[in-house]
Amino acid sequence: MALLGATGLVGQRFIKLLADHPFFEIVALTASSKSSGKRYCEATKWILNSDFPEVVKDLRVLETSPSTLRSCGYNVDVVFSALPSAVARELEPLFAREGFKVISNASAMRLFDDVPLVVPEINPDHVNLIYVQRSKRGWKGFIVTNPNCSTIILTLTLKPIMDCGGIESVHVTTMQAVSGAGFTGVTSMAIIDNVIPFIANEEEKIQTESLKILGRLTESSVEYADILISASCNRVCVLDGHLENVFIKLKRQVDLETIKDSLRNFKGIPQELKLPLAPPSPIIVRGEEDRPQPRLDREEYKGMSVVVGRLRYGKDGWLKYVVLGNNVVRGAAGNSILIGELMAKEGLL
Ligand code: NAP
Repeated sequence: MALLGATGLVGQRFIKLLADHPFFEIVALTASSKSSGKRYCEATKWILNSDFPEVVKDLRVLETSPSTLRSCGYNVDVVFSALPSAVARELEPLFAREGFKVISNASAMRLFDDVPLVVPEINPDHVNLIYVQRSKRGWKGFIVTNPNCSTIILTLTLKPIMDCGGIESVHVTTMQAVSGAGFTGVTSMAIIDNVIPFIANEEEKIQTESLKILGRLTESSVEYADILISASCNRVCVLDGHLENVFIKLKRQVDLETIKDSLRNFKGIPQELKLPLAPPSPIIVRGEEDRPQPRLDREEYKGMSVVVGRLRYGKDGWLKYVVLGNNVVRGAAGNSILIGELMAKEGLL
């Protein structure tokens, strides 16, 4: 596999998770022209609390182009992408056209009718849109996308609740970690001792992407779920881990124990197939009055499980809870790799 945007925050998470992966071998890394030609350890400001994995340390960073990957000396089966969205919009279709199978973190193509937007436990069948994509665009490869980080965390909990009570509307307020903005995204002067009540385009992404993920695959696209979602997003002074306060109006009231059980027991195809990064329990339910918390709960099953707490009904009859997820693992690199594992197991890579 090759990794595009390998030097960034999400790129580094990919490297850490893929360094000794049983399905994928890292053979090529790319970044911007400022990094290409350098050894990975020279080009990257490594921010994880482990050293550079030996397998990538001395790899030469390549220019991000299909022709460079073709001439890297390996047959690359799959390309994971952690490119900024504007760059992805230009470059990823070139890779797909040239026959590369791209699994992308960027938002650029997530809402295109023929592009799968996948959380493997929720909508694994949506990967079949690659056949529509191929016939419509004439690409030899394809693009499958990983959703927005807050959206993945939210939808993992909405799916089992939707299946047991039916959902009419959802209000969600997020408290999002600084790592979600990339390495240079939020300055320390802006965020220390502060909360910023705005994240560009984030509310729209949560409100729309969730409906596609929870929607139904038709012959040539996805019929969006019929739920009203309203989001309000804040950047907070936390390194990793997005916390979300969720308020749900159910179609019919279901007792709390039934909802807790449906969250706890929620599993999908990744668990059935025992995929390497699939957490045995995608959702962990805690009973303490003050959990989940980012510092304590963001590494559950290597950051692949989300943690739910404070599940209760309000006086208005709305179901309320808090959910925490690791934005750079389940919300980015980890979910993308899980998509790759699923597609590999299904023979699609
Ligand atoms: P980042 O830290 O800014 O890293 C961006 C990467 O892209 C770097 O490797 C950079 O290389 C490379 N790059 C920049 N401009 C390029 C160009 N013109 N051509 C080729 N490569 C270029 O960003 P990030 O936080 O890792 O995010 C990466 C993607 O994942 C974004 O689309 C983001 O929206 C998405 N995402 C992020 C999160 C999160 O929690 N952070 C969650 C979900 C999705 P250089 O080092 O050479 O500049």
